[in-house]
Amino acid sequence: MRCPFCKENNDKVIDSRESTDAFVIRRRRECLACGRRITTYERIEETPLRVVKKDGSRTPFERRRILIGLMKACEKRPVSADILEDITAKIEEHISERYDREVPSRVIGNLIMRELRKVDQVAYVRFASVYRDFKDVEDFEQVAGELRRKKPTTKKAPKRAAKKPAKRKAAKKKGGRKPRTDGDAPAS
Ligand SMILES: [Zn+2]
Repeated sequence: MRCPFCKENNDKVIDSRESTDAFVIRRRRECLACGRRITTYERIEETPLRVVKKDGSRTPFERRRILIGLMKACEKRPVSADILEDITAKIEEHISERYDREVPSRVIGNLIMRELRKVDQVAYVRFASVYRDFKDVEDFEQVAGELRRKKPTTKKAPKRAAKKPAKRKAAKKKGGRKPRTDGDAPAS
């Protein structure tokens, strides 16, 4: 905890006690840089973070749901459980830093997409297709197109009509590239 007097981040707790109702913990701290003492109060969070859905309804934020979404998107993909845990932790941290009581579900969805995109493009398209609630193949093409473009172009191309039927896409996907093999890096 940063000292309010000298701004140093170096203190020690010299006394810690619960208040009578036990929902608040009072801590007496001493700054090791300037020697001054401060008191902090730690409270139990009364309003847990809630997720605001598209229809305006609210549900409690659950980290588990992010992980489940990631796992579904990465099914049968060469993405380790560790990576999914890391992404979940990263997203959770991002949200808790910026949102106090409520976070729009859109924000969580976008964060998941952003991270998935870096890790596995198939998983990204899968997640995007569910998350964005694709209506037709045109939506799919749009996301696929976003992937193909590494850098965003300055000029915006006029929206093309979807020429390719869905069948072709499915066939192409089936015979697509093999997943990268893991484990060819030398173990250290
Ligand atoms: Zn100080």
